[in-house]
Amino acid sequence: MKEFELITLPYEPTALEPVISAKTLEFHHGKHLQGYVNNLNAAISGSEFENMELIDIVKNAAGGILNNAGQILNHNLYFTQFCKPSEENKIFGHIADAINTRFGSFDSFKKEFVQAGTTLFGSGWVWLSATTDGTLMITQEPNAANPVQKNFRPLLTFDVWEHAYYLDYQNRRADHLNALWQIIDWKVIEQRYTTK
Ligand code: MN
Repeated sequence: MKEFELITLPYEPTALEPVISAKTLEFHHGKHLQGYVNNLNAAISGSEFENMELIDIVKNAAGGILNNAGQILNHNLYFTQFCKPSEENKIFGHIADAINTRFGSFDSFKKEFVQAGTTLFGSGWVWLSATTDGTLMITQEPNAANPVQKNFRPLLTFDVWEHAYYLDYQNRRADHLNALWQIIDWKVIEQRYTTK
């Protein structure tokens, strides 16, 4: 069967510091995500989900298979949306216009997004997605859920599981979420938004 593989990070392990440390990346990508990949490969072997695309597994599976597949899809979108902090990296383009129209301003959007992350009880993810008619939506998804299960197109996500920030921020989830804006690669988010 075709096995799922751990994605390669598109930056050096220290690139996201001080927002996300190399140590956190080592555990989050190298241990947690690797674990979900190993678990999923073992769980789908010989099942109806063998050789299915990841997104289709997330839309159709339940239980352990859904949890592990969802975590892989979520983390693949999460880890590939970051870049080294830089002054040049600013929101632009169609996504900037759409955010201003929907949320009033980029600042209001950031506030609402972080608020959704800090008020999510337990483990989960906060998402910015586009609905089928292109409307932007912020949603809180518990555990390993992904907006594709609602037929939304996921654009941007913050992981609020403690493993995403505890080594660097301990219990200060809001500080971690507010810092993440420094490393969002807006070229990636614009591309996700404009590629249908
Ligand atoms: Mn995670």
